[in-house]
Amino acid sequence: MSVRFFKGLLWAIILLAGLYFFTTDNFKAIPDKLATTVSQWTASVAPETTSDSAASDSGSSSMSSASDSAASSATTEATPLEANVQGKTLASTYYYHFDDDVPTAARQVFAQAIAIYNQTGIVKLVAGTGTAEQNQITFSIYHKTMTAAEQGTIELGHGGPKIIQRIGWGAYTANHATASLNATYTAAFQESVAVHELGHALGLDHSTSQDSVMYPVDQGKTALTAADIAGLNSIYNN
Ligand SMILES: [Zn+2]
Repeated sequence: MSVRFFKGLLWAIILLAGLYFFTTDNFKAIPDKLATTVSQWTASVAPETTSDSAASDSGSSSMSSASDSAASSATTEATPLEANVQGKTLASTYYYHFDDDVPTAARQVFAQAIAIYNQTGIVKLVAGTGTAEQNQITFSIYHKTMTAAEQGTIELGHGGPKIIQRIGWGAYTANHATASLNATYTAAFQESVAVHELGHALGLDHSTSQDSVMYPVDQGKTALTAADIAGLNSIYNN
């Protein structure tokens, strides 16, 4: 066999291979193939269960007097983020709804809190139920009576993000959050408490700054600080 024959054969193979790739719709098949192998994992980090407490006695503990000087120093650091939202990319739109048993007084303070976060322009909270792939917030109440051992503090509420993440084909990351008030105590139905719990739902963690709405003990604060806004921006405008 001659060299010429080999050359011809080689060209024929190259031509056939080229034709094969051009004529078969190989690339369209790729997503389907992937779809069969991706696994859906749901990272459900439980909402914060640590209690938010407020001093129920009028002598409001040593905390407020001790940290007066610390509060006056301007903090430029952003309010910390809940661990499970760190490094996540979340859409800024949330669909929210109230559980049926949420009384009017609680709905009102939640509505005020919603308005405060909407005013930032960073997030957009819309009434309604979203799809699994969309961010959602459920507003609720619960009943927890403090024991004698817990005297001096009452738990006002809890809230937090729950991150749902699907990887691979059709990937998405969504936050199905909750914000809840302890209906056993009327002190829980306060705008400042609703702002705090909604802050958790949106991904903010506790702040050491007494000016922050995310300070763990209720200070009656309803206005977001620059640090609170910076925290939100780091989640939704990253
Ligand atoms: Zn809290």
